[in-house]
Amino acid sequence: MSATNIAANVPVGAADIQFPIRPPLNRWNAAEASGLTPLQVLAYRSNLLGSDRSVANWGGGNTSCKSTEIDFRGRTVRVLWVKGSGSDLGTIRPRQFTGLRLDDVLPLLEREAMSDEELIAYYEHAVLKPGQPRASIETPLHSMLPFDQVDHTHLDAIIALCATPEGPRLADALWGARAIAEEGGAAGIRVNTVNPDAVLQGSRDSHSATAG
Ligand SMILES: [Zn+2]
Repeated sequence: MSATNIAANVPVGAADIQFPIRPPLNRWNAAEASGLTPLQVLAYRSNLLGSDRSVANWGGGNTSCKSTEIDFRGRTVRVLWVKGSGSDLGTIRPRQFTGLRLDDVLPLLEREAMSDEELIAYYEHAVLKPGQPRASIETPLHSMLPFDQVDHTHLDAIIALCATPEGPRLADALWGARAIAEEGGAAGIRVNTVNPDAVLQGSRDSHSATAG
C-alpha cells in the first residue's frame, strides 16, 4: 500500500485534511550555523526542528551530537551532548544539554537490563562537568548509534498513526524496513530491546532521523 492509497481511504469527515501533506520546510541556514561549536550547532538545529510542531511536539523528542572536548583536567575526551530532561527542542539553549563521557556511557550497552532509576543514577557519574541537567531517558539510543548527529523527534502525526490498531501494518506499508517496531514499556528496558543493527540499517536506507 502506498501513502496515496492510504489517503484515498481516509473516511469522510477528514476531508478538510490536505493530501498530500506538504513536507516541512528546510530552514537550515548554513551562514547562521557556520562558526558555531558542535554544541551550539546542536542547539541551533534543535530549535529549527522544535519550532515546527508538525515535526516535533512540545518536549519534542531529543537530539544529540558527539564531539571532542577538554575536561577539567585538560584531557581530551569524547563527549555525547544530549538534550536534558524537561526542556523543549524549540527553545533549548546549549546549557540545557548534558555532556556525558562516551567512554563511561558506552559500556552501559552491555547490560542485560536497567530500570529508569538505575540509568539516571549511572549517567550522574558519567557527566563531563557537575551541575548539568539530567540526561534524557532516551540517551542509550543516542549513545549506541555511531553517528555524530542524531535527531529523534516526536511527531504527533506519526504517533497517532502508529497508536491505532492498524498502526504496525500501516507503518510497515509506508516505511517498510526503515521503520522499527518496538514494544512499549519502561524506557530503561529499551537499552537492550532496541536492536542497534536494525536502527543502523534503517538509517542507512533513509538517511533520516528516528522518530518515536
Ligand atoms: Zn522518543
